[in-house]
Amino acid sequence: MKDEILSYWDMCSRQSMSLQRGMYFRLPPGHGVILMSRRRNAPYADSLSQDETILFYEGHDVRRDENTPDPNVLDQPRFETNNRPTQNGLFAAWVDDFKQGKVLPAIFRVYEKMRPGVWTDRGLYILKDYRFRPGGQRMVFSFQLEQADFDSSVSSESESVHLTTSRQIPSWIKQDVYKRDKGRCVIRGATEQLHFDHEFPFSKGGTSILVENVRILCARHNLAKSANIE
Ligand SMILES: [Zn+2]
Repeated sequence: MKDEILSYWDMCSRQSMSLQRGMYFRLPPGHGVILMSRRRNAPYADSLSQDETILFYEGHDVRRDENTPDPNVLDQPRFETNNRPTQNGLFAAWVDDFKQGKVLPAIFRVYEKMRPGVWTDRGLYILKDYRFRPGGQRMVFSFQLEQADFDSSVSSESESVHLTTSRQIPSWIKQDVYKRDKGRCVIRGATEQLHFDHEFPFSKGGTSILVENVRILCARHNLAKSANIE
């Protein structure tokens, strides 16, 4: 569920696999998984558009081993040495086919790292495009994904969804709220099934961009809140 706060193990159990890398392609109608980070020491340069609806996800490097001690000086690979596509290759090939109308869109659940061992679910994104472009002294993949949000009100709003009017809670707000609420439900201090909640509901004009309007709630108190509103 979007805006949920998850431990690494929660995340793995949601996806029913041990997440060992950042990119997992799955054939539609299944959906893949992307792990991203915008932390200062993040290994890749992932970024989001200002309204946070478009993700620019950097491809991944050659695997480090004794022959390649320094993968980040090499072009990011489309194929393994055995000629099978890498995850970069699977993503790129799907975009090529998708743009020719040959295949369904590929969907990914995106998780963003907030701090060591703490992740947040950003919801579903559709893989739309990619570039293979210079990045420093080498070539890197940049994948473009757009927020899907099939089940929220974002997509029904006009295209000019701006940060101030977006349901999206920006990462920097989430990080502050997580710290302030000490990673617990603000009502009784539960530490499981947490997510970020608009205290004054977004649907009634509550904002996403004030720390004061965002808090951590557990599933139980979130349900209790929805029951009160409806
Ligand atoms: Zn609670």
